[in-house]
Formats: sequence, C-alpha cells, structure tokens
Amino acid sequence: MKPAPFSYHCPSSLTEALDLVAKLENYKIIAGGQSLMPMLNFRFLMPEHVIDINKIPELVGVSKEHHQLRIGAMTRQHTIHTSPLVKENAPLITEAYGLVSHRQVRNRGTYGGSLCHLDPSSEQPCFTAALDGVIEVASLAGKREIAMANWTTMYMTPDLAPDEIMLGVRLDIWPPNHGWSFMEYSRRHGDYAIVGVAALVVINSNNCIEKISITLCGIDAAPVRLYAAEKILIDHDASDIAVKKVMIEIENLPDVMEDSLNTADYRRHLAKTMTNRALKTAFERARKRI
Ligand SMILES: Cc1cc2nc3c(=O)[nH]c(=O)nc-3n(C[C@H](O)[C@H](O)[C@H](O)COP(=O)(O)OP(=O)(O)OC[C@H]3O[C@@H](n4cnc5c(N)ncnc54)[C@H](O)[C@@H]3O)c2cc1C
Repeated sequence: MKPAPFSYHCPSSLTEALDLVAKLENYKIIAGGQSLMPMLNFRFLMPEHVIDINKIPELVGVSKEHHQLRIGAMTRQHTIHTSPLVKENAPLITEAYGLVSHRQVRNRGTYGGSLCHLDPSSEQPCFTAALDGVIEVASLAGKREIAMANWTTMYMTPDLAPDEIMLGVRLDIWPPNHGWSFMEYSRRHGDYAIVGVAALVVINSNNCIEKISITLCGIDAAPVRLYAAEKILIDHDASDIAVKKVMIEIENLPDVMEDSLNTADYRRHLAKTMTNRALKTAFERARKRI
C-alpha cells in the first residue's frame, strides 16, 4: 500500500520546525522513517502533514558533557553503535545496539525516533532507563526535561505535547571500573526483544557491590527498573546469592504484559534467565576492572 496524500514540510532549522508543530494540525514528524513509514503505508496513520526533521543540524551528534553523554535525537543508531566516545563511556549502549535490528535499519533509524515510538520491547528505552537518561524537548515556549522514568505515559505514548519536538538525551557516565551487560531473547537475530535486560555494576576490592542498575524491557509499557533489588544489593557480595535476590523481585513483578504469542509467565521466565546471565557477565567484567 501507499500512504494517503499529505503535505511534506522540510524545515532546515529547529525554530522553523517548532513554528510548524505549533501551527499545523494533524501532522506527524518523520525522523528515520523506520517505524513511521510502514504505519503510513498501511494507513494506520493518515496525517495531513509530514514534517521531515532530517535537515536540522542541531538535532545530531554525540558529545561528552561533564559526567554525562549527550546524544542528539536525530543521531543515527549506526553512528551511536560505532562511536568510540560511546564505547569508552557507555559500553552498555554499544552492546545493546548490536542487538537492535539490522545494519540497514540502524543506518536510517534514530535514537530519538525510537524513544518517541516507544516500543515496550525496544532495547533503546531500556538502556536509557538503566543510565538514568534525561530527555530534552522543546516548543516555542521553551525547553523542558523529562527523566526517562517518567517519559512513558501509557502504551507507546511518550510525555511529549503536540507542539513539542524531542531534542536529545543526557545519560549518566558510570565510573571506568564498572561492569555491564545487555542481553535479550528474541525469535531471530535483529528482532525486537521478547524480553531484554540492561545490567550495570561497580564492585570494590572486597567483592562488594557499590552501585548497581538493572532494567528490563518487554515486561511493561515502560522499561522496568528493579529499584528494590538494586537497594538490597548495595554492600552485598557480588555472588550467586545476590543474583537469587534479584530473581525474587522478578518472580513477584505484578502485571507482566502478555500477547497471543508470549504469556506473562513465559516473559517472567525469560526475564529471570536473561537477568541471571547478564548479572554474572556484568560482575565478571567489573571484577576484571578493579
Ligand atoms: C525490520 C525492523 C526491525 C526493527 N527491529 C528493532 C529492534 O530490534 N529494536 C529496536 O529498538 N527497534 C527496532 N526497529 C525500529 C527502529 O529502531 C526504528 O528506527 C525506531 O523505532 C524509530 O526510529 P526512526 O528514526 O526510524 O523514527 P520514525 O519512524 O521516523 O518515527 C517514529 C515515531 O517517533 C516520532 N518522532 C521521531 N523523532 C521525533 C522527535 N525528534 N521529536 C518528536 N517525535 C519524533 C515520529 O513522529 C513517529 O511517531 C526495527 C525496525 C524495522 C523496520
């Protein structure tokens, strides 16, 4: 199928784009088009206007600012996947992008597009939550920041007003001695995860956990950060007993989503298996860096 007719707009500055989203009704922004184009072609969406933000230089780039990485919304997934700056400061992201789709999709797909599309099984909101990402958005009225923890308002719906455009994300950089792991289970390589997990840990020379972050995707509309388990594990030995404590929180997760292919019990089982493996890998990598 082909999309229903629409007017095409291609602003070359952020101000021009913000003017358009402030004045137009029934529009869609197009970034990499990897999720939007199929929805237009199937006529799930029939906007009167499509605003292409590919020509806005302010929205592109990866930089290090104090203890954070900043990634512009229109930065291609392939650019982030292969960025030495990202690999050095947030190897979790590099590892996660190895599981995101295929090279062809990552060449066009953008980080911002993924966070605005907000598929519950996507790796990108998951690692953003794990790294305490803060999302920057703008309208003609000014800028606003939203913590990733508050970004999802409901299923596939970000906290983005109709007159706002996402600008980028700031992500915490973990200490150089941290361990990390992103693991997932999907039907085929490059598919969205059925369940995925992002794990980060800092371990001291006594094998005690000093800092930890564990986040699941494919469980709920928003990434699920296991805050209770993280709290219990601080000052705990980085051992199999620690991993078992995380399993208990996963076992007791309420309202795990299900669909015609994957039951809640199956997703819970995958979450435990993947988290078990990811934590052990993160512990191992952290120990090697003490
Ligand atoms: C075959 C295939 C396999 C895939 N597998 C995976 C996978 O395994 N993991 C994964 O995470 N993703 C996967 N994807 C999705 C891919 O990551 C998309 O690139 C992503 O979901 C959307 O990014 P985009 O830049 O293409 O956005 P678009 O499709 O252009 O836009 C997506 C949505 O975000 C809105 N939007 C985009 N940018 C902004 C902005 N700056 N401000 C406000 N609104 C904005 C658009 O209006 C639209 O509603 C797959 C896609 C395909 C086609």
